[in-house]
Amino acid sequence: MSEQTHTDADAIEYDETIELLQDLVRIRSPYFEEEAIVEFVYEWLDDAGLDPEYQPVREPDITGYEGDNVLARLEGSDPDAPTLLLNAHVDTVQLVEEWDEDPLSGRVEDGKCYGQGACDMKGGLAAVLVAFRALADADLRGDVILSAVVDEEGPYGLGANQLIRDGITDECDAAIVTEPGPILAQSELENPALLLGARGRFLYDVTVRGHAAHGSQPEKGRNAVVDAGTLAGALAEMDVGTHPKLGDGSVCPLSIEGGGETLSVPEACRLLVDRHVVIGEDAESVLADAERVVADLDLDSDVEIGFREAPAPDVRYGPYVTDEDHPLVRSLTASAESVTGQAPAIGYFSSVGDFNYFGHRAGLPTVIVGPDGENIHGAGEFVYTDEVVDVARILVDATTAFAG
Ligand SMILES: [Zn+2]
Repeated sequence: MSEQTHTDADAIEYDETIELLQDLVRIRSPYFEEEAIVEFVYEWLDDAGLDPEYQPVREPDITGYEGDNVLARLEGSDPDAPTLLLNAHVDTVQLVEEWDEDPLSGRVEDGKCYGQGACDMKGGLAAVLVAFRALADADLRGDVILSAVVDEEGPYGLGANQLIRDGITDECDAAIVTEPGPILAQSELENPALLLGARGRFLYDVTVRGHAAHGSQPEKGRNAVVDAGTLAGALAEMDVGTHPKLGDGSVCPLSIEGGGETLSVPEACRLLVDRHVVIGEDAESVLADAERVVADLDLDSDVEIGFREAPAPDVRYGPYVTDEDHPLVRSLTASAESVTGQAPAIGYFSSVGDFNYFGHRAGLPTVIVGPDGENIHGAGEFVYTDEVVDVARILVDATTAFAG
């Protein structure tokens, strides 16, 4: 790495950053309905002279989704220097109903900015945008690619998937994702914090087939709902993997659908079960685990276990861990300390997101560093405004060190 190039993280101004955050929060953008915010991000980058482009995201088979990511690139002076991906998602969950104010108010009070998606992750999106613009004035050897992606909160992470499909991640050597950090970590942490990995996730899709009979004579049938319930209980108790950094895997039965109101022994039903996994567990072993549980139960019904339908076999959330000694982690550690005055805590994410695609599928050393808040995905969601600014400054400083 060359000598530290001079870029002033103080180029990130509080007021302007938080005004941008408020603008972003005020744009309704649940997943699959991101047109307005995508256009806003494009225009913002374009107005800053940063040559953004739309990257079409298409998934015709399952969701019929058509949208666009926004990409922008800063070209470094040395083709051999590392390329860094800065990634944020633009979508939110659906607006929840329990808000006792406008869920898109963007109200700032006591250092908190309120709104659906304020913390997850318009705070991180604002930080990435202002950091990227500040980096345009830096003297970088490596490239920096900004990706503002759609559909992180949707079922398949189609925006990040498109980065992989189109080879964008092949050009990168490491990734930073500014998702909310500590609040979604496996352990209790506070910012500054770096999250260096995440568990993976599979969704068992189980069909249970029994045998119909008149409901007044249940002994003449095989009750698929009863067997699915027994199976759900057994799966919830099964042994799962453990990892020194990622912690334990977990299993959560999510739904049993089947049967009806007619007086019949239900002949079939569908059981969906979430399984979070750690490194060392893959599709094959996860399937084998469930099949062992089924074999041990010896149910009357026939059981067929698969995974949730996906746009392609590789569209899966695998687990990953980034090495604490990776140069990007070292750069972020030093920058977090210089910006906040505190050495960052190290943690691991509790669930899955686009970062799994970068860390696992694309094999990129991937770090989550993002502003914290509360009530994520719920009413009263907010992000701490000073942490949004801190994250932007950390991004500028660390990118200048890593790619400078
Ligand atoms: Zn998120």
